[in-house]
Amino acid sequence: MAWRAARLRVTAPLLPLRQRGIASCIDPSAGLTEEQKEFQKVAFDFATKEMAPHMAEWDEKEIFPVETMRKAAQLGFGGIYVKPDVGGSGLSRLDTSIIFEALSTGCTSTTAYMSIHNMCAWMIDTFGNEEQRHRFCPSLCSMEKFASYCLTEPGSGSDAASLLTSAKRKGDTYVLNGSKAFISGGGDTDVYVVMCRTGGPGPKGISCVVLEKGTPGLSFGKKEKKVGWNSQPTRAVIFEDCVVPVGNRLGAEGQGFNIAMKGLNGGRINIASCSLGAAHASVLLAQEHLTVRKQFGEPLASNQYLQFRLAEMATRLVAARLMVRNAARALQDGREDAAVLCSMAKLFATDECFAICNQALQMHGGYGYLKDYAVQQFVRDIRVHQILEGTNEVMRMIVARNLLQG
Ligand SMILES: Cc1cc2nc3c(=O)[nH]c(=O)nc-3n(C[C@H](O)[C@H](O)[C@H](O)COP(=O)(O)OP(=O)(O)OC[C@H]3O[C@@H](n4cnc5c(N)ncnc54)[C@H](O)[C@@H]3O)c2cc1C
Repeated sequence: MAWRAARLRVTAPLLPLRQRGIASCIDPSAGLTEEQKEFQKVAFDFATKEMAPHMAEWDEKEIFPVETMRKAAQLGFGGIYVKPDVGGSGLSRLDTSIIFEALSTGCTSTTAYMSIHNMCAWMIDTFGNEEQRHRFCPSLCSMEKFASYCLTEPGSGSDAASLLTSAKRKGDTYVLNGSKAFISGGGDTDVYVVMCRTGGPGPKGISCVVLEKGTPGLSFGKKEKKVGWNSQPTRAVIFEDCVVPVGNRLGAEGQGFNIAMKGLNGGRINIASCSLGAAHASVLLAQEHLTVRKQFGEPLASNQYLQFRLAEMATRLVAARLMVRNAARALQDGREDAAVLCSMAKLFATDECFAICNQALQMHGGYGYLKDYAVQQFVRDIRVHQILEGTNEVMRMIVARNLLQG
């Protein structure tokens, strides 16, 4: 029963990678330093051993794999670009991209949540004062505690600066009222980085405060049922006369929107890197399937149409990776064009990688549509990367604004 053998082989997404080696043209370690190759290998090994065998179960049973993420944190993946004095790994944005790409081959949804957690930890590390950094970052870097990023509201998505959650000053506290929508990790996480309105309309009236689970007046909506990203919960976060000490505000009053956007520059590289990992794994799965599956008396891989499509997938993957790594370097170097390059990379990589995964599914024929095969999960998990951390239409707005401003 050749089809049965093929089925078994393709359910473990990374086995082909380990057994056959990777073709040099798509090798994600090409051009990296020896040190980068080392932690990339650590991340690939973790993805293969600790994540890939469980990704289907986490998806089907909607399990948030807390202990697995804590194991990842022991390797330094809980605060990758957080400074070492508060428990972070102190690595660069490029290093971070390399790690998330590798982890994502094992479970894209879990890695994507970890990328949001890392973004929150970085925001506290960068914009918090010493007391806040030391209070929050160590337990986030170890993933003893988990974080959520709270910007989107029911009435403000793409137009994030129109958010309405109010934070009224009362002595040494703020009293928060309002709600956030679609919050990754919401309800299961411990630390909430919340953008709220302390001043007038527009971005300059927004501040950023950190709330902890258990704060009176903080509650959560029902767990959303989603197409993908099922290994992480998504819920509304609700504030009803929720009292937060002023000492939990990051930066100055009115700086919150800027902090949120700075977080998202890195977040966009991270989420694009998660797309790269899914696309990389999908190319390997397609490669394997074309070799194993026979139709018209020969392996699918003998068909030139399919060979050409595979070549296109590999080419698009490498182009997307170059875009992401270029943006990561620009952000690390503090270049003026970094924010727009991050937007371009997010737009290009998440669109291209979705197309790659979808084409890989097509190459699997009917089997690609079955949940026994990993490829469908990569397709479902990365679809949302074109929507969140700024939709790809918003990415186009940012790029166009930069072009037309002169
Ligand atoms: C699974 C999941 C997890 C998420 N996690 C988080 C999280 O952790 N934290 C958080 O804060 N948010 C989170 N989000 C929210 C996400 O960032 C928003 O869904 C996204 O920003 C889009 O906002 P919206 O859904 O309100 O769509 P809308 O803003 O209503 O947009 C609808 C459509 O119109 C397009 N559009 C809007 N305005 C324009 C325009 N001017 N020109 C052209 N096209 C336009 C959009 O691109 C989109 O295609 C998550 C969302 C999902 C689905």
